[in-house]
Amino acid sequence: MASSLIPASMQARIMAGSPRNLSGAVAMLNLDLLKNVVFLFFVLRYTRKTFDSLRGYGIIGSIKRVYAAIKLWAFYLFLRAPGVRGQVDKQVTTALTKLEEKMVRKGPGITSYLALPKEGWTSEQIRTELAQLVGMEHAKWEEGRVSGAVYHGGEDLSKLQTEAIGTFSVSNPLHPDVFPGVRKMEAEVVAMVLSLFHGPSDGAGVTTSGGTESILMACLAARQKAYAERGVTEPEMVVPETVHAAFFKAGSYFGIKVHRVPCPAPEYKVHIPSVRRLINRNTVLIAGSAPNFPHGIVDNIPALSRLAVSYKIPLHVDCCLGSFIIAFLKKAGFPSPYEEEGGFDFRQPGVTSISVDTHKYGFAPKGNSVLIYRNRSYRNHQYFIFPDWIGGVYASPSIAGSRSGALIAGCWVSLMTIGEAGYIASCHQIMGAAKQFETAIREDPILSANIEVIGNPEVSVVAFASKNIGIDTYDIADAMSEKGWHLNALQDPPAIHVAFTRPTALAVEKLQLELTEVITAELEKAEERKRQGKSFARQRGNTSALYGVAGSLPDKSIVNRLAEGFLDALYKA
Ligand SMILES: *Cc1c(COP(=O)(O)O)cnc(C)c1O
Repeated sequence: MASSLIPASMQARIMAGSPRNLSGAVAMLNLDLLKNVVFLFFVLRYTRKTFDSLRGYGIIGSIKRVYAAIKLWAFYLFLRAPGVRGQVDKQVTTALTKLEEKMVRKGPGITSYLALPKEGWTSEQIRTELAQLVGMEHAKWEEGRVSGAVYHGGEDLSKLQTEAIGTFSVSNPLHPDVFPGVRKMEAEVVAMVLSLFHGPSDGAGVTTSGGTESILMACLAARQKAYAERGVTEPEMVVPETVHAAFFKAGSYFGIKVHRVPCPAPEYKVHIPSVRRLINRNTVLIAGSAPNFPHGIVDNIPALSRLAVSYKIPLHVDCCLGSFIIAFLKKAGFPSPYEEEGGFDFRQPGVTSISVDTHKYGFAPKGNSVLIYRNRSYRNHQYFIFPDWIGGVYASPSIAGSRSGALIAGCWVSLMTIGEAGYIASCHQIMGAAKQFETAIREDPILSANIEVIGNPEVSVVAFASKNIGIDTYDIADAMSEKGWHLNALQDPPAIHVAFTRPTALAVEKLQLELTEVITAELEKAEERKRQGKSFARQRGNTSALYGVAGSLPDKSIVNRLAEGFLDALYKA
């Protein structure tokens, strides 16, 4: 076998070599053999990778990927060309200065504290300052003008949460012997969520600091499990392109390659045959959303479950957003996704983990989420256990070491105060508003003529986009924000979404009315543009500038710089 690896020319040289130098020839032979083996290994490896890519993305898809990479590279060079670079720098700096002025409030009546006060403040001083801080001019979530963001459960609940947080403010679940009550509440929160999502009797779970951590942990556990059980060292996962950014964060943090699967119109659900084609021996996890953040659409979980079962790979369902709405749809009298095919949760045999944000529609204080697994053989791969630590045997279930028991108490109090009847009622209210808004877009004469709903939203998020080529979706977003609305702008395709909450549900009439006003105004502007032709100077708002101009460039370095500047501004004192 070995000799077949040696190229003929090499063999001839060895044959012709003088017998005097036999040991040298043998050494050369071994070295060459090794070189050939290594070479063959790389050829095989890249052939396999190319094959996986061709199989996963198809021939045209693969050519498109190469083309996109070349275009990106060309644009990268262009942005760094003399003349261009200076212009770009100037515009980025201007945009960031404006952003900072808006975010970092300065001026009379605002004092910055950049070092500890010499003497601690009196409680009177503190209260005065806190009142000022909470009163700083802000987006009016209290009037229901903010999409998502504030998942408020009512004044009475807020008071109880504050009490629970106060009672447990010093507690830390890292020390269950010191805080047994926190351990009990935490285990019960997990149990309650498991029962809502039809967890099997040996179902298991953890609480985390939020949806992102729940997703990070689900991806990590899947990666570790595949390594332990199948020796996978180059992990990959296959996810819908509409999945939450936390999956890409997990890929980046944990070295998992992420394949994004298209979610084609008109359904905007993950394309199942593409998922199947992208599954290979390195796949550690596939995922679906119920529903996804951008469009509020539920992927075909039963079909994903069938793939998971037949390829024997874990399937994560992201119910972070769906949380306590999707779990109660049926009981609240709304159609529950895939009910006739067995639902979207652990009733599907392929589903191995589900993330559920108690801090969204569970109305718990922010900093709460639950990750549930089919059983502990999945969960325990996310544990971190370090028996050799000088500080003693160390074990912690998730990313954090010390955590706040107060937040767990706040979560437990929320679930127990609201109860099943309360969640059914809030599901009714929120879904009622979402459906009313969706119906308005489909039926109101002005709205339906100019904008359209994306797909068929089944939960509490409704996304829409302009269907009038004269009106730019991002101009609608900017005009709405001028009226004090904080809706979410989406990209690829350009769209806007509203995540209904209890405060926004109360403002749905106003939302419809003002959206109609905005669209009427945009129609007039479009007419004006037509009349003036080229001489019309278009005013671009922030959303339009970010997504319309910067977002359309193939190279994302400008958007990256703006985003980095935004993060920097968060920490300007
Ligand atoms: C909100 C959300 C998450 C998690 O977000 P966090 O801000 O980390 O809580 C995950 N998936 C979806 C679909 C979401 O809407």
